[in-house]
Amino acid sequence: MSDADILAAVETRRQDLIGLAQDLVRIPTLNPPGLNYRQICDYLGTRLLAQGWEVDYVRALGAPGDSDRYPRWNMVARFQTGPGPCLHFNSHHDVVEVGQGWTRDPFAGEVDGDRLYGRGACDMKGGLAASVIAAEAFLATRPGFRGAVEISATADEESGGYGGVAYLAERGWFNPDRVTHVLIPEPLNKDRICLGHRGVWWAEVETHGRIAHGSMPFLGDSAIRHMAAVLDEIENKLTPALATRTTAMPVVPEGARSSTLNINSIHGGQVEPLPGDTSLPAPCVADSCRIVLDRRFLIEEALPEVKSEVTRLLDDLTRARPGFRYSIRDLFEVHPVMTDRAAPVAAATARAVERVLGRLPDFIASPGTYDQKHIDRIGRLKDCIAYGPGLLHLAHQPDEWVGVQDMLDSAKVMALVLADLLAPPV
Ligand SMILES: [Zn+2]
Repeated sequence: MSDADILAAVETRRQDLIGLAQDLVRIPTLNPPGLNYRQICDYLGTRLLAQGWEVDYVRALGAPGDSDRYPRWNMVARFQTGPGPCLHFNSHHDVVEVGQGWTRDPFAGEVDGDRLYGRGACDMKGGLAASVIAAEAFLATRPGFRGAVEISATADEESGGYGGVAYLAERGWFNPDRVTHVLIPEPLNKDRICLGHRGVWWAEVETHGRIAHGSMPFLGDSAIRHMAAVLDEIENKLTPALATRTTAMPVVPEGARSSTLNINSIHGGQVEPLPGDTSLPAPCVADSCRIVLDRRFLIEEALPEVKSEVTRLLDDLTRARPGFRYSIRDLFEVHPVMTDRAAPVAAATARAVERVLGRLPDFIASPGTYDQKHIDRIGRLKDCIAYGPGLLHLAHQPDEWVGVQDMLDSAKVMALVLADLLAPPV
């Protein structure tokens, strides 16, 4: 059977796609604090329910950030015709803060030429809209398919996904009994297929000192000077060592194919005054200094070794430096994941990209992390990729936009993936 009818069914929905993406952008689902989550779930759920989908709303009760004021709502919709595989499209519905530097209204959903502007247009309401249109076009042209299509709009991806995909996966919404293939329409460009991501370890390191009068620092012991020694070791030993380690994963940009370490923050001595507080600091030797490390590691590295490399550096300083004392606290960790490029959803998406765009896609991996981690580790679903419209570097930027043609092309790809996996020609 030809697939031309599926492509045409997406093409005729062009205005519908634009309108849907605009409506989604116009619901400011800011995270933090977690605004309008129920509203965006209702909007999508109402649309799908009217077309015969089964719709569930799931609040992540007790998840980080969940409160009666800012409830963490998720929406999961399923359309099933009978036994068979299930392809699930998962999009996060939250967006990051607006920030400075906008020349457009971030929540107007303004279309100018081929661009739809707004906070979240690229990351990832454009991809969410594309997946809805793809599913609708597929259902209209292949009503006899066997299996199920699912669409979810989930909370809090931007803050770790604990009130979203992690919560749902822990409760069985993502597991092999229910779902077979997962496609996450994150903005990675319409000609690239993202197979996974690097690992993450966040830790807080604190150096301890002894407080004294700042006019007689020799009577105290400065935690800031101890931290300077830590930073020196990181700068001159650890960072160069990390730069020599490279991964076989196709991470983009290429600089992220090495291990990396960022000092996310540093705080030492007295607490900084609040804005508007004009009081002067008192002269004290700092008895505490803290940094937060953001270490991104490779699939070839083991997390225990990643951690002990840092504690070894600190232990060496304890021996070498009089008075040096430290403590370390784990904040957050994510293991690297990677789907095989021959896995069904990856291979089907590659075929569809070639059909729609006339060229083979690039297979890439993300330098950061996204909800695939929870789908893989909690949901035990290994057939998972990220694929969606939008240019990754525009995410979280002022004047964020998504290309209308990119949304349409990626919707065509997603519709063909549905046909490939759920309605193969007989
Ligand atoms: Zn995103």
